Amino acid sequence: TANLTLLSAQGLSKSFGGIQAVNQVSLEVKAGSITGLIGPNGAGKTTLFNLLSNFIVPDSGEVWFDGQPIQQLRAHQISRRGLIRTFQVARVLSRLSVLENMLLGAQQQTGENLFQVLLKPKRVRREEKKQRERALSLLESVGLAAKAYEYAGALSGGQRKLLELARAMMTNPKLILLDEPAAGVNPTLINQISDHVLRWNQEGITFLIIEHNMDVIMSLCQTICVLAEGTNLAHGTPQEIQGNSQVLEAYLGQ
Ligand code: ATP
Repeated sequence: TANLTLLSAQGLSKSFGGIQAVNQVSLEVKAGSITGLIGPNGAGKTTLFNLLSNFIVPDSGEVWFDGQPIQQLRAHQISRRGLIRTFQVARVLSRLSVLENMLLGAQQQTGENLFQVLLKPKRVRREEKKQRERALSLLESVGLAAKAYEYAGALSGGQRKLLELARAMMTNPKLILLDEPAAGVNPTLINQISDHVLRWNQEGITFLIIEHNMDVIMSLCQTICVLAEGTNLAHGTPQEIQGNSQVLEAYLGQ
């Protein structure tokens, strides 16, 4: 399946007031790949993620995921189809336990809100017992099992990123959009996060990763897409991108 396109965007544009954040951008993510999305600050990467996950509506252009346009879908329908994202600053609920955060990840697929989840009668909780086991096993696999019953707010920034990544796995994703997994994370945890991405990729999950840490990008990705000033600047293998003088100029000129 390595040659099938899982996600594609065509001619996406988005402006905020007078700022053209994303300008006629097209992108393809192959099923089974780890694809990098890089570019100088303000290049439009996060805006592109917001468009790809239907968090914001494009001024023009289209996004197709797994053979279908996503424009008409609500957030929970998109995650049920297997497209999930993380955020530059990990969005965990500080006043809930690490485990509860994981279980909310699974609920993203049903579109239930926090109250509906927490006030549910016991008789519908059998399925949730399975999810609990899955959550604990995922926490175990990312080294957070000992923190399962602690407040998520007590985690370090890097541990929150791990939690967000593990939580994304609760939705049985086909594609995870990772927004700067290494930002503000210590080197040991960065290596761990990279290892999890590689392991889950080998299990069949596709990744699109925004990252400023070039070691992470170059070691993980088979294909890299470069944005600059809201437009497609280049795409290719890590080697091709490293040797591309336009890419170098875009970074030096920022
Ligand atoms: P970074 O690497 O610094 O996170 P980025 O490549 O993710 O940057 P974006 O955050 O997508 O870039 O921003 C692209 C441009 O759009 C910037 O000029 C930014 O100021 C602008 N922008 C993004 N979101 C908004 C918004 N909601 N309102 C106004 N301007 C915005």
